[in-house]
Amino acid sequence: MGIDLHAHTTASDGSFTPRELVQHATVRGLGAVAVTDHDTFGGHEEALAAGSELGVEIVPGIELSVKDERGDKSHLLGYYVKRGGALEQQLDFLQAERKARNVVILDKLASLGVPVSMARVEEISRGGVMGRPHIAQALMERGYVQSVQEAFDRFLADGSAAAASKEVLHPAEAIDLIHDGGGVAIWAHPTRPPSKRGAEPVDFEAWEAKLRVWIEWGVDGLEIYYSQYTPAEASWTAQMAGKYGLLGTGGSDFHGVSKPLIELGVTHTGEPVPDSVLAALKARKNR
Ligand code: AMP
Ligand code: ZN
Ligand code: FE
Ligand code: FE
Repeated sequence: MGIDLHAHTTASDGSFTPRELVQHATVRGLGAVAVTDHDTFGGHEEALAAGSELGVEIVPGIELSVKDERGDKSHLLGYYVKRGGALEQQLDFLQAERKARNVVILDKLASLGVPVSMARVEEISRGGVMGRPHIAQALMERGYVQSVQEAFDRFLADGSAAAASKEVLHPAEAIDLIHDGGGVAIWAHPTRPPSKRGAEPVDFEAWEAKLRVWIEWGVDGLEIYYSQYTPAEASWTAQMAGKYGLLGTGGSDFHGVSKPLIELGVTHTGEPVPDSVLAALKARKNR
């Protein structure tokens, strides 16, 4: 049937509620979908209920923003982390850091002459963990920009006019927290760090050196399927998984309206992730 192990809901910056995501998975003919919201487990309960009702297997996940000692930022996926543990306790801190950062971003936007109100961004985020895509949508509504991408390019991307930083976990620390909870830690879209924009050429030798460090930190695998990968990135990530005995997972990174070109269940191959990946992922948990 095919699966998708990377998707967002209204628990963070996706536009589909967890239930709508599961309904959409049935329309897309998927047998399983992972809920991997930014810095929250908030979408799990509703997705699990909808999944058992609609016959879609739900993989509980999370996507954490991390930064190493050199300042390099990445996204880290955690699957099957037990609830109520040490990682969940950290989430309060990470969400507080986000809130403080969002206030700074809105202040900067106001001083740049493109004010949006916190109340409106809160409405757009529908009670979920607020992220820059919500702020981008507010900028678009006011007519300051024509697209989410333009909002990032002009105001919100790292290093741009209204950018602001927040404290995040170190990758090694986050991997340990995922493992403490019996979960599986996957380096999300490694060649597409959150600060990178388009598909500029990738220095694969440098990335392999970095991957070796992530392996020392204990990462279990990396995404080898991803909607945004070029053929070169797809073949490199798959090759690395084979070479280092890493789990190769992946998905679309479906968000709904804030990333309108990404469809659930569609990776760089144009197809969903094969079912065999889920069996391999499950075999790794609780180790
Ligand atoms: P946040 O969680 O608030 O840091 O926002 C992260 C979200 O913004 C992720 O979904 C990213 O894919 C998206 N994002 C970050 N940087 C950019 C960028 N330069 N262009 C487009 N989207 C971006
Ligand atoms: Zn997102
Ligand atoms: Fe990501
Ligand atoms: Fe994502």
